Amino acid sequence: MEKARCNMTEFWKEHSKAATVEEMMLDSRARELTEQELPEILSMLPCLAGYKVLELGAGIGRYTSHLLTMAGHVTAVDFMDSFVEKNRQDNGHHSNAAFIQADVTKLDIPQNSFDFIFSNWLLMYLSEEELQSFIEKMLGWLRPGGFLFFRESCNHRSGDSKRDFNPTCYRTEAQYSHLVSSVQMEGPEGGQTFGFDIVLKKKVQAYIEMKNNPNQLCWLLEKVRRSSNTQNGFTTFQQFLDNKQYTRRGILRYEKIFGAGYVSTGGPSTTKEFVDLLNLKPGQKVLDVGSGIGGGDFYMAKTFGVEVLGLDLSDNMVDIAMERAITEKLPSVQFEVADATKRTFPEGSFDVIYSRDTILHIDDKLALFKRFHSWLKPGGQLLISDYCCSEKPWTPVFESYVKQRGYILYTPSQYGKFIGDAGFCNVRAEDRTAQFIQVIKTELHEAEAIKHEFIKEFSEEDYLAIVNGWREKLERSNSGNQRWGLFYATRK
Ligand code: SAH
Repeated sequence: MEKARCNMTEFWKEHSKAATVEEMMLDSRARELTEQELPEILSMLPCLAGYKVLELGAGIGRYTSHLLTMAGHVTAVDFMDSFVEKNRQDNGHHSNAAFIQADVTKLDIPQNSFDFIFSNWLLMYLSEEELQSFIEKMLGWLRPGGFLFFRESCNHRSGDSKRDFNPTCYRTEAQYSHLVSSVQMEGPEGGQTFGFDIVLKKKVQAYIEMKNNPNQLCWLLEKVRRSSNTQNGFTTFQQFLDNKQYTRRGILRYEKIFGAGYVSTGGPSTTKEFVDLLNLKPGQKVLDVGSGIGGGDFYMAKTFGVEVLGLDLSDNMVDIAMERAITEKLPSVQFEVADATKRTFPEGSFDVIYSRDTILHIDDKLALFKRFHSWLKPGGQLLISDYCCSEKPWTPVFESYVKQRGYILYTPSQYGKFIGDAGFCNVRAEDRTAQFIQVIKTELHEAEAIKHEFIKEFSEEDYLAIVNGWREKLERSNSGNQRWGLFYATRK
């Protein structure tokens, strides 16, 4: 390991002599790229006001200068003298800056002492043996509720390809994701375990546009307390979604009955009906919360010329959505893996927030609707369809269905009240259960009509799982407990 550290130090000594941005990024188009990607990367960060920030592998301070204007205090660390000196020259006049020349793997930092750790192209320079323990260390340096951001080149190199020896470890996106979700540590008082939950995982758009390179990935994670039995037996809620209801196969067979591109009630038909209520105008910005495999987003962009950001917590969903995006060729539609309860956007970012059959997975609806309210522009519109329920008592069948799925359901009027309490006006809360029942019947007939094709594409077992699931859904709705709501509201 020491030998690897020496090689790495030698490599960077060679590449830090001029301390320029081209040299540091190992890329001759560095300035142009920086201009494009800097604002993009900064827009992914949480609000840093008052935060104590640790910037690791800060280089000549491309990001330091910006972090300094956003945060309470920034400690910038790099192991190359000339980089640290250049950073100090450019940014040392800020009274809230500190500069440390050190190898990040050898830093000695007290536990729980930072609110935010930022690194851009650092972890890819750590070896396999170093990486896991380094992520554990960072988890310790952060206070509970603090955030870690890192950006890496995945799968292959990002800079000029003709460079000589380049000691980078090009890991896959999945390797990084696995590492951060599996790292855990005991809290200081014992008995508590901490780990990272995903807030956001996103491709750098500037690299896709300028270099046709989709391998620049960013992660934003939150240090959270892990409790043993909350996620239905999984460590994180994301793992619960990806391994239970939304496995790749599970998603594709849902799509077969809901309609191409859709994983929610009525697929293209209800989407057309509900989107029509919005009077979308070209150029408007739409946020789709729980965008699934993106059918609704492609439809909105194609039909109305809007820009859509689809976010979804399930990796499997976003993977499929991105595969479809390649054939759709619609640069106005983007997807990201994100947790809607943790992701932040600046005030007034969107004209429309749209969400179909997703918020059933989310516990604190009032808090979520308050976030939506702030993300909408004045006059912006909210449109939601969602699973709801009747007042209790519920049948044991419905009780156990809701428990097994981990859904959090309210009656349509309670749901509407949350939207009003979050500050929205013109709230319309409609019980659309009759339409729900109609749609389920149609979908069931259509699935039965293509039974052979369905079985050929999937299997008999998959076919039965779907049609039996739909029959049970029909029973639960007919018995009155399961309800479906449509919600519309605006921001003043
Ligand atoms: N709206 C899509 C998909 C509906 S399925 C469609 O109409 O086709 C519900 C989606 O909600 C799933 O893709 C699930 O991964 C996503 N989801 C659940 N909890 C989430 C959260 N906290 N943040 C973002 N997405 C979430």
